[in-house]
Amino acid sequence: MPYYEYYCTDCNQVFEIFLTYQEYGSQMISCPMCESSQIRRIIKPVRVARSEEGRLESLTDPEQLEGLDNDPQTLGKMMRQMSQELGEDMGPEFDEVVDRLEKGQSPEDIENDLPDLGSGGDGLNPGLDL
Ligand SMILES: [Zn+2]
Repeated sequence: MPYYEYYCTDCNQVFEIFLTYQEYGSQMISCPMCESSQIRRIIKPVRVARSEEGRLESLTDPEQLEGLDNDPQTLGKMMRQMSQELGEDMGPEFDEVVDRLEKGQSPEDIENDLPDLGSGGDGLNPGLDL
């Protein structure tokens, strides 16, 4: 439960109150010493900031991406989603690769089956930096 620090302007006391976020929005707070409602919230840097960072880190977890080499179906799904979000036609070769990935074929097998892919470059990477 987060705690809030207040300062009473009547008796010059600083006090802490533990409140849930719901209580914080609805509850009338008064000074525990003199019961005055002439109080001011003391704002401090809060711990919440750190947990926000943690959430961002988990979204870009590199281990999650590395595992995709052994998971062609998820890789295929991701590539399809990316091309849809880009709104670009990635060409019939791209569709072919995605189809095969989604059927569970490994990237190596697809490359062997489709030697013409990408004509010289990394065939599995038609414009996408995976
Ligand atoms: Zn007071």
